[in-house]
Amino acid sequence: AQKQSGNHYEFYASGMTVGSLNQFLLEANLRHALERSEFQVYYQPKVSLVTGEIVGAEALIRWFSSSQGFVSPVEFIPLAEETGLIVPLDEWVMTTVCTQAKQWQLADLPPLQVAVNLSGLQFHQTDLTERVTQILQRTELEPQYLELELTESVIMQNTDATIKKLDQLKTLGIQIAIDDFGTGYSSLSYLKQFSFDTLKIDRCFVQNISCDSKNAAITTAMIQMAHDLDLKVIAEGVETNSELAFLQQQACDEMQGYFFSRPVPAPEFEQLLVTGKRL
Ligand code: C2E
Ligand code: CA
Ligand code: CA
Ligand code: CA
Repeated sequence: AQKQSGNHYEFYASGMTVGSLNQFLLEANLRHALERSEFQVYYQPKVSLVTGEIVGAEALIRWFSSSQGFVSPVEFIPLAEETGLIVPLDEWVMTTVCTQAKQWQLADLPPLQVAVNLSGLQFHQTDLTERVTQILQRTELEPQYLELELTESVIMQNTDATIKKLDQLKTLGIQIAIDDFGTGYSSLSYLKQFSFDTLKIDRCFVQNISCDSKNAAITTAMIQMAHDLDLKVIAEGVETNSELAFLQQQACDEMQGYFFSRPVPAPEFEQLLVTGKRL
């Protein structure tokens, strides 16, 4: 205990450190960020390895805080999950993305599947299916153009409820992808119980596949298994031409990564579509 008087003492007594003060400020700012319109959705292209064309986009949230500057989602998403703010946030992202996808359709751009990341808290909301249905109705986006990305750890939390929920979501006609595949629970038996469409290989396996023989072996096995299970497979975090060549050789279906494009704001993404940028 400190023998100090006044504020300084209380500061320590309440257990507040510089780190937790920063967390506290972050949380306080996060609460108002939505109403202050400090969030933006960026889009990263998903590219077909068969045609070389952009076939989809992953929506990634960006926070430009007026008081703290750019804050990475790696930092604020866990905080938003702890505080429950993730639910309105993910809902805002989904609405923004569906609205945008519809606009691109109406502008006669090539049809595109848009993917949204869903946090565990959001996925386990009892009325998730109704919320998704409402967003699709309000934005008039056909369900087959919406994809939800769920991590392995999220779907493994409550498997009976998850099986039911995934079935409900599939009945809507939307697409489901398992995100960060291979990084969560190791039991693969869930693959035959859950209804979903796509396996997304995490960046940690894709890195250096052309020279790291272990990553190469794991990635090759994942692609093979996905295809044997009739799933589409996409590799994320592709940064080099040799990683791309390896994935093409292994008949991976799609890729995403800095090699083709970083996540970009909607107008820039639209430019990629208009100019028909391809691999
Ligand atoms: P994730 O879903 O695994 O997203 C992929 C991350 O890898 C993104 O980071 C993306 O910008 C980055 N990335 C893409 N290509 C490359 C590459 O070639 N090299 C490297 N080094 N990185 C690449 P970001 O945007 O910082 O997002 C981090 C995580 O935050 C996401 O991981 C996701 O879990 C979460 N997240 C982002 N937006 C949302 C959202 O709207 N809702 C929820 N619930 N989570 C989100
Ligand atoms: Ca993702
Ligand atoms: Ca990942
Ligand atoms: Ca599919």
